[in-house]
Amino acid sequence: MLVAPIATNEDARLAELGDLEILDTLPEQAYDDITYLASKICDTPIALVSLVDRDRQWFKSRIGITLSETPREVAFCAHAILRPSDVYVVPDASIDERFSENPLVTKDPGIRFYAGAPLVTSRGNALGTLCVIDTEPRQLTDEQAQSLSALARQVVAQLELRRTVARLRKKAAEHRVYEKQLEVYQQRLEENLATIRHLSLTDPLTGLHNRRALMDKLNEECALLARYNTEVSFALIDIDRFKQYNDNNGHLAGDELLEAVARLIEGKSRSTDLVARYGGDEFAVIFRNTGIEGAQRLAERIRSAIEETLWPLGDITVSIGIAAGSLATPTPSHLIDAADRALYRSKEAGRNRVGLTVNV
Ligand code: GH3
Ligand code: MG
Repeated sequence: MLVAPIATNEDARLAELGDLEILDTLPEQAYDDITYLASKICDTPIALVSLVDRDRQWFKSRIGITLSETPREVAFCAHAILRPSDVYVVPDASIDERFSENPLVTKDPGIRFYAGAPLVTSRGNALGTLCVIDTEPRQLTDEQAQSLSALARQVVAQLELRRTVARLRKKAAEHRVYEKQLEVYQQRLEENLATIRHLSLTDPLTGLHNRRALMDKLNEECALLARYNTEVSFALIDIDRFKQYNDNNGHLAGDELLEAVARLIEGKSRSTDLVARYGGDEFAVIFRNTGIEGAQRLAERIRSAIEETLWPLGDITVSIGIAAGSLATPTPSHLIDAADRALYRSKEAGRNRVGLTVNV
């Protein structure tokens, strides 16, 4: 018996066969249809899609035999794949010196006739054959040989399709992973941006809006005012003799007082008002939709609440300056200047009072 030699491209051939991940898979209709057609066209009881592995041939599809694989050294197909462009035909194995001693000939299934069309991939590797087998000696007609070759090409097409599908599946899965990652990063980015935005508009000591946020809101408010002819009032609130408080009680106590005054102003304002720390010991409130009287009432409420609070380290008062009135289109700097002037007058007049600049 002649054992088929190994071709020079064996490593590449086995690598491609491995990559297909087809060995030892379950039967599939597409391959079974092809072996069925091969056995019908060639009129043989046995037809196989045989893949030649390192040490065995394994049948992806089989008609007429129950074996699912045989050792490679007895495989007819191992000879057939050495001539990738031809249909390999053995008319009568019992009188062929290469095969007469082969146990597949001398024993079950008693092969006499064999014809195998190599399964040659687009990379040029013959992975196995589509073969037909008979227990009687015989020949193939040209037409049958051509049909067998055509069907073998269909087996290869099927195998390569499998590879493409597997590759696309993997790509799609990778794509999904990247998409998920992207979503996570995007969300993190948005969270970071939100945090940064919040920090950039917040006074770290009191948690109130800072001066930047105040200017944004004042600009917005003035734009609305111009468009809808609504009212707005603006107040600056400055702690009286805070420098002294700091000097007497320490900077830390000063910080605590700033926080406490911030909470108090917030507590006495309406939810529609905007309270900010203007700087140092100075706070600002935008009273939305509020005219002179309303603003005076609200400012007085804040002033008296601070005065009447029982402060642990001594009395605390604030002076307030309000800008209110009916200038057609006030600008933020109009409002701030006017409130500042009113505040200055409150301080001059003895502190702990509300001053007003009308018609800013
Ligand atoms: P006036 O009644 O005229 O307002 O007198 P004042 O002492 O309050 O004078 P002024 O408003 O000029 O002083 C503000 C002081 O606030 C000066 C500064 O040392 C202090 N200060 C500014 N920022 C902070 C702060 O973040 N923490 C503390 N503890 N003190 C601050
Ligand atoms: Mg002050």
